[in-house]
Amino acid sequence: MKLEIDWTRCDGHGFCASLLPERITLDEWGFPVIARTHIDQSELTAARRAVGTCPALALRLSSQPVDSRSSTSREVNSRPTR
Ligand code: SF4
Repeated sequence: MKLEIDWTRCDGHGFCASLLPERITLDEWGFPVIARTHIDQSELTAARRAVGTCPALALRLSSQPVDSRSSTSREVNSRPTR
């Protein structure tokens, strides 16, 4: 599974980082930074909880293989500037 953020929805609430701190940190503006998008089986429950908690419905889990999709997900330091 792959963790993705829809940047058009994310408002930087930060709940995802508190529920999945081993994968998500917040940048200086409070927006999430995903260290590695691939979610291991052992992290799936916490990842699903983070997805379900996002008030903006911006976080999602995709079953697509990590490298088979184009630019719908952005990893470290690739968040668009506002
Ligand atoms: S909880 Fe949702 S809206 Fe908030 S920072 Fe995470 S992805 Fe963005």
